Amino acid sequence: MAAEAPSNPEQTAQPDGADTTASTGKNAKKTPAKQMKASEKLAKLGLRKDMDFLLHLPMRYEDETQILSIAEASLRGGSQVQIQGIVTHQEVQYRPRRQLVVTVSDDSGELHLRFLNFYGSQTKQLATGAHVRARGELRHGFFGAELVHPTYKLVQDDTPLPSALTPVYHSGEGVPQALLRKAISNAIQRTHWRDTLAPRYLTQLNLMGFEASIRTLHNPPPDVDQYALSEREHPAWTRMKFDELLAQQLSLKRAQKSRRAKGAPAMPLVGELSNAFLLNLPFTLTGAQEKVLKEIRADLGQSYPMQRLLQGDVGSGKTIVAALAAAQAIDNGYQAALMAPTEILAEQHFRKIAAWLEPLGVRTAWLTGSLRKKEKEQAQALIQSGEARLVIGTHALIQDNVQFQKLGLVLVDEQHRFGVGQRLDLSHKAQAGLIPHQLMMSATPIPRTLAMTYYADLEVSVIDELPPGRTPIVTRVIDQNRRDEVIERIHAAAHEGKQVYWVCPLIEESETLQLQTATETHAMLAEALPDIRTGLVHGRLKPAEKQQVMDDFLHNRVQVLVATTVIEVGVDVPNASLMVIEHAERFGLSQLHQLRGRVGRGAAASVCLLMYQGPLGQVAKQRLGIMRESTDGFEIARRDLELRGPGEFLGARQSGEAMLKFANLETDQWLVEQARDLADYLLRNDTATVSAHLERWMGNKEEYLRV
Ligand code: ADP
Ligand code: MG
Repeated sequence: MAAEAPSNPEQTAQPDGADTTASTGKNAKKTPAKQMKASEKLAKLGLRKDMDFLLHLPMRYEDETQILSIAEASLRGGSQVQIQGIVTHQEVQYRPRRQLVVTVSDDSGELHLRFLNFYGSQTKQLATGAHVRARGELRHGFFGAELVHPTYKLVQDDTPLPSALTPVYHSGEGVPQALLRKAISNAIQRTHWRDTLAPRYLTQLNLMGFEASIRTLHNPPPDVDQYALSEREHPAWTRMKFDELLAQQLSLKRAQKSRRAKGAPAMPLVGELSNAFLLNLPFTLTGAQEKVLKEIRADLGQSYPMQRLLQGDVGSGKTIVAALAAAQAIDNGYQAALMAPTEILAEQHFRKIAAWLEPLGVRTAWLTGSLRKKEKEQAQALIQSGEARLVIGTHALIQDNVQFQKLGLVLVDEQHRFGVGQRLDLSHKAQAGLIPHQLMMSATPIPRTLAMTYYADLEVSVIDELPPGRTPIVTRVIDQNRRDEVIERIHAAAHEGKQVYWVCPLIEESETLQLQTATETHAMLAEALPDIRTGLVHGRLKPAEKQQVMDDFLHNRVQVLVATTVIEVGVDVPNASLMVIEHAERFGLSQLHQLRGRVGRGAAASVCLLMYQGPLGQVAKQRLGIMRESTDGFEIARRDLELRGPGEFLGARQSGEAMLKFANLETDQWLVEQARDLADYLLRNDTATVSAHLERWMGNKEEYLRV
């Protein structure tokens, strides 16, 4: 690809020096030393090859096409204005701090340009008599109208105004806009344009050409639809978004294909263990559980790795499905590993699943970071020798010193809490050449656009039915100044034999503070309810202590459990039927839904009290209202999405997030669908286009997605 070969870096960085940006004050001279420096700075922004510059698209545009008279500008406090005039006075003031104040006048009046950081060269440039054109936000200061830190340039009386919008680029320290503009314009001139998409695709999808799009975005023509350009709805933007989404689809699908090309142990047998396990279940599987189990069983029989996401609302019964999948792996002579995001949850899985499987002769092992060295070594030995057929634990499972004898299946619970990378690491634990099958579980539903983009390479099974006999949870939203009533209610519930969770507020800034609050709340409740047994669990307890408290709660030796968000996921104590969440307004909706899912697990009617501290803003009210109205995780996620946008579903942990620069998953769903369809077509029929497009858009970033 000659057009996109790395260009000489010195060539790309040629400041034109005509436009001086006051905020940097650098008057770039064309000495070789400075050029080197500029190219290094540009490289720091990821700008090396010509194509990098072409795709460094404006963040916004400024309208410099008009000049206001100073009198007119003075009436527009708070908005961006551009004026032109002659410097009539200049002075360096020293109070309250050193600053340069330049007075400019035109026929209609005068105003001040105020610079808090300035260079000696600027004092010379802005000498009395100079013609200057300046842009900035108009403010009214002590001495009248002023522009603080304006962008300016020296002009002749007849220097023409730009006829089109001026692009503003994301830049770094010491990289003036003028430098970027020049470097981009050089790259545009040097490029031998080639569209990665043939004309027939463009016609079919009604897309603008690549060259025309790039030119429009960097140099908007005077008659461009300014609104569409600023709002990124112009066809030129659409083309960029489409290209980006197409690259993402191609890349995900290629990763999926290459994964499929790798072998996995075929584990088709549904044998003795699976059958005995099913016979011994204390309940019958729901139709939805049967359905997903069938899908998983079929996948496990294949000789390429399963990558399946098991979605089901909180309490829908994913654990048993996972355990049955593990049984199938064991029936085939392989080991299975189950990884959970918190120690409490891992512990609970371990006890539950071990209680199911150990009587059937399956040796299990338990591994978390907090085990003592000796215990750890014992567990590792069991795993390595293959004696332990099922291994349960936290991310300690993916550490280097853990080696499996014959790992066939990896189960990841609450997968959205893990990074993609961690998921990957565990899959590398298999034997030479073979990749274990993977089943990921999540109660957090993935919005459709996300499923089509970041998760495009996963198969999805959905449990869309709750086990029978559950009564829906009633949710109440309550001001925290009614705390006494709430405590009274807990008292009554406890006397009826019910168990209660009291969830302490999330304090994001400080774990210590969160801990303190939990301890105080516990003391307060213990005092208010002297005849009730209360317990406290939080993240800082030693594992044995944690286990003791959870155990006491499970066996109803503790009736009121004060907890931090450590109980957020997975904890299963069916007799608990009342939950109080303090400062509910601080939690995310999916988190509230998860927490609330700790009750309503048995036959008793359950209640969740969301306590808030007023006054609540409009959005906070709406959010708590959603929780009151719905117990359906998918519905809550959908409405949460309306309020927040999809970005937050990914969270910082999903490294794929950084991949989309231009497309917006919320507003560009239709483009996602088109990109997906074209990706399918290209992969089957036009691999040359696939390579060219990925090369242009992914460069080395594709590694990112290969997970
Ligand atoms: P989640 O999908 O949230 O992980 P769990 O697997 O923890 O849900 O299951 C929630 C509760 O429902 C557990 O107590 C579990 O034993 C029970 N359960 C699961 N499947 C069924 C079923 N088919 N019938 C009755 N109870 C079930
Ligand atoms: Mg679960």
